[in-house]
Amino acid sequence: MELIKVKENIFMVKGISGLPSKENKGFISNAYAVKTKEGWVVIDSLSTPELSKEFISLLKKKYNQPIKYLVITHYHLDHYFGASEFKKEKAVIVTHENLKNLYEEGYLDTYLENIKKLFGDIFKNVKLTKPDVTVKDRYSFKLGEKNFVVLSMTPAHTNTDIVVYLPKEKVLFAGDLVYKNRIPFIGDSFSNSKNWLNVLEKMKKMDIDVILAGHNEPLDKSAIDFTYRYISFLREEISKMKDEDIEYDKIKETLQNTEWSKYPMFKVFHNKNIYKIYNDLDFEF
Ligand SMILES: [Zn+2]
Repeated sequence: MELIKVKENIFMVKGISGLPSKENKGFISNAYAVKTKEGWVVIDSLSTPELSKEFISLLKKKYNQPIKYLVITHYHLDHYFGASEFKKEKAVIVTHENLKNLYEEGYLDTYLENIKKLFGDIFKNVKLTKPDVTVKDRYSFKLGEKNFVVLSMTPAHTNTDIVVYLPKEKVLFAGDLVYKNRIPFIGDSFSNSKNWLNVLEKMKKMDIDVILAGHNEPLDKSAIDFTYRYISFLREEISKMKDEDIEYDKIKETLQNTEWSKYPMFKVFHNKNIYKIYNDLDFEF
């Protein structure tokens, strides 16, 4: 793990592309940190307490300041499962209100159990962490000289999506809502592809220079179009074929060899995305 400077006072650690494995130890996503005069604000925790510990020690080595906030962009393991280490640092944990509900309803316990069954030992030390501050629509805070605006963008990738916007720096921390040259994951049981497109349109209207996302190098706004094109492509093609009464297996087969098949994560996510949209379309009006 290596701390990379993105911009003045903004740093990232960059995970590899893939699913959790013994080799990558779950380091499959990015996390970010903003340095202010009064301490660090971190966006996403990484997948495990072990990875978070390493990330925190890199931050402290760079500037030995307290970690004041941890903002979790959504509940997925690679963004949230390391949060307990930030709690130890007395950081304020900020999430969408729905994440706290999933925590209290026990949904996240089941999720963690399933992840442990799927990926084993990598996640054995994960402790689910209760949020301190929850966001419904918008929450802004100031630390040192910097303003942070947390905006709800859900439901889209999940039912817990929030983004962090730095108005002066024109930087957007977008979680898993924006990708470039990589297949987005729409298969979450709470995802909403229809509203995801609305969310992307909202982002397009924002004044943004750099998008810092969960699984890419720093991006410009063209990434919003890439994500929009993939989601609307799937929605339109599936919808058209459903109207023609084409069967699910045939729809799936038709959507295999397209311009999208060359991108990373295609094999892992594409069919799950088709399945979710195929089912969701019946309930949209
Ligand atoms: Zn995710």
